[in-house]
Amino acid sequence: MKVTEHIKNGNGKTQFSFEILPPLKGENIHSIFENIDPLLEFKPPYINVTYHREEYVFKELKDGLIEKKVVRKRPGTVGICAAIQNRYQVDAVPHILCGGFTKEETENFLIDLQFLGIDNVMALRGDAVKSETYFTSEKNGHKYACDLVSQINALNKGKYLDDALQHTFPTDFCVGVAGYPEKHMEAPSSESDIHFLKKKIKNGAEYIVTQMFFDNEKYFKFVEKCRAGGITVPIVPGLKPIAVKSHLNLIPHRFKVDLPDSLVMEVVKAKDNKAVREIGIDWCVQQSQELVKAGVPFLHYYSMGKSSNIKEIASRVF
Ligand code: FAD
Repeated sequence: MKVTEHIKNGNGKTQFSFEILPPLKGENIHSIFENIDPLLEFKPPYINVTYHREEYVFKELKDGLIEKKVVRKRPGTVGICAAIQNRYQVDAVPHILCGGFTKEETENFLIDLQFLGIDNVMALRGDAVKSETYFTSEKNGHKYACDLVSQINALNKGKYLDDALQHTFPTDFCVGVAGYPEKHMEAPSSESDIHFLKKKIKNGAEYIVTQMFFDNEKYFKFVEKCRAGGITVPIVPGLKPIAVKSHLNLIPHRFKVDLPDSLVMEVVKAKDNKAVREIGIDWCVQQSQELVKAGVPFLHYYSMGKSSNIKEIASRVF
């Protein structure tokens, strides 16, 4: 079922969803199930599975030369989605990227998803590969998520890349896209970021999931600006609890989001990571409860492969 139908079926009640990431290559799929199982009691209608593109790994050889290897550390997005739908009868939402894909590879990826009975995709540009400063697309790939959304929407109308296949069997994906309450790190202003977000919707995206934020005011203001800019689709808040002290540096660096002073000071004063985990849970519960009161359709949690703190939060909120 499509995420938009799940939203409608909620009849205004906030529902629970979460995102997982594929395990590192070499690990067993059971590590995924072990994290999903404890969260099923909160009845997630769908589970997102992230996509991780290749990275460059550099190794110094004996003769002083540098060997550059291309490695994908977390493959398996499509397989995990199929396994989730098969095992739990819960919809899986695979993330699909512009980065690393030609348009033809995108089309073939979407055909695989359709054959597996997957109804939803989250369309993203992806970041620059580590060791590169700027994002670059494949020669015949998409530069921006709005163009990827267009391709998916065209395929939904039966428009394949090959002219000979025009108006044959259409796909029927519900497309979600990313939004940034604190603006995307490369956007010159939040207005321009919202302008391009609107383009993703115009090109066929049906809902937005936000980047994590730790101050609900940022989300509320973002929604206000989106609505003022003519974006009417559901805007699902994405939440992540702080779990360890190192998150204080890692999260702002990696995701370009601010942490409120009062949260930072509580974490700084915490005596160990056990205490930090409790602070992160309490903070996330407060955020969640306020967002539920505001009537958000879903609370979408970034589990980062660890479900125990998400379970504690959900049991206090749902
Ligand atoms: P875009 O919408 O293409 O925007 C990128 C930048 O370009 C923005 O600054 C925007 O303002 C600007 N822009 C957009 N369109 C245009 C245009 N036509 N002309 C000029 N400028 C434009 N990354 C992964 O690698 N794997 C994942 O699974 C993944 N999941 C994510 C899930 C969520 C909910 C979020 C919020 C992010 C996720 N990311 C993931 C990270 C995401 O790939 C990065 O944030 C990336 O840098 C931007 O992706 P986007 O789809 O928002 O890009």
